[in-house]
Amino acid sequence: MLAASASLLNIKVAVLDVGVDAPAKQIIASSSHIDGSFRNKEKILEIASKVDILTVEIEHVDVEALEAVQKGHPNVAIHPSPSTIRLIQDKLSQKRLLASFGCPLGSFQAVDANQDGIAHAAKELGLPLMLKSRTMAYDGRGNYVLRSADFESITAAIDFLSHGSRKLYAEKWVPFVKELAVMVVRGLDGTISSYPAVETIHRNNVCHLVWAPFRLSNIDQDPTLPTKAEHIAREAIEKAFEGPGVFGVEMFLLNDGEILINEIAPRPHNSGHYTIEACESSQYDNHLRAILGLPLGSTRMKVGAAGMLNILGSSNSGPLKISPSQSSLSFSDDFLVDKLTHVALGIPGASPHLYGKAQSRKGRKMGHITIVGTSDAEVRERMTPLLTCLAEVEG
Ligand code: ATP
Ligand code: MG
Ligand code: MG
Repeated sequence: MLAASASLLNIKVAVLDVGVDAPAKQIIASSSHIDGSFRNKEKILEIASKVDILTVEIEHVDVEALEAVQKGHPNVAIHPSPSTIRLIQDKLSQKRLLASFGCPLGSFQAVDANQDGIAHAAKELGLPLMLKSRTMAYDGRGNYVLRSADFESITAAIDFLSHGSRKLYAEKWVPFVKELAVMVVRGLDGTISSYPAVETIHRNNVCHLVWAPFRLSNIDQDPTLPTKAEHIAREAIEKAFEGPGVFGVEMFLLNDGEILINEIAPRPHNSGHYTIEACESSQYDNHLRAILGLPLGSTRMKVGAAGMLNILGSSNSGPLKISPSQSSLSFSDDFLVDKLTHVALGIPGASPHLYGKAQSRKGRKMGHITIVGTSDAEVRERMTPLLTCLAEVEG
């Protein structure tokens, strides 16, 4: 999606990813693309020798390699900076940094990944206890909810999370009523602006739906809530992180209206995909403008409301089963991906985005669908056939 924004400005892009037809390479043709992992130091140094600016779309990159680029290729600008990436990669360091600037957070503490350490944290922070891996965490894969502090439960948590090696920390359980997110963008000159607060709904720890803008309902009547969320997000980025680019700030809303920060991603974020169709400049346009030192685009919504549904791979692979009246065009090797795409094509205001990933796997993010409309009610109504389809396929 960043490559798509770059292509509109004739900006040349070289992509480092595994495979000659990796998704971003399908967007922009270039002889400079590199086939390799973003965790491979040699490949990172190779791509650095070909570019003026390096950016990442995932924070789990090899930071040491980026630090080597800083030394070996001082003319290459790296955004976000390796120090920011290093900080954010370790969720405990990230929390400590945010706490040091007085950002609103739930209680957390470091935990030794053994029986005594976890039992101690459970005593201090209570149950259920959210145990998290400090590093290499995404889509909830580094999270474990400890419901009881007996020997067997703690053993199961250690087995799941650390395999005896990964460092852990613990968070007090946050009884949130909603989750929300704000994308913040800072230009090279320090100008900062934010997109509207949105509601995010997760299933099995993975972003499932996004509703934009955040809708006030009976449980959260305070009309200043969305502005408050934007303020908290902007302040966190201003105080805790340097440099240009987009940052995704994930937050929890409690039933008394309090907002706590969950975590921050130093890049365009899944909860900002809706900005492509719904905002005057998308998060990708703005990330690009920011790291290139161009004027930032407007973050305002240009439609009344938007919704975004992630398309996750199903285990339901096989040929598309469709009724004879529908087109038989198959978009992927995954029945559910195809089915949702066909349904979306029949909905006004719906834009399917398929990522061109080589293979579908259960739970893998294969694409998303954004729906725009004049009002929140219209967008929710337009989303209904997709949610019904999902429920039918999933049984
Ligand atoms: P991402 O893919 O967003 O990077 P992640 O693996 O870093 O995910 P988190 O964002 O830490 O995971 O947590 C995933 C989800 O788990 C949250 O969106 C929220 O629904 C739930 N969650 C996280 N922390 C807590 C907590 N302390 N209390 C209650 N629920 C939580
Ligand atoms: Mg995360
Ligand atoms: Mg998260």
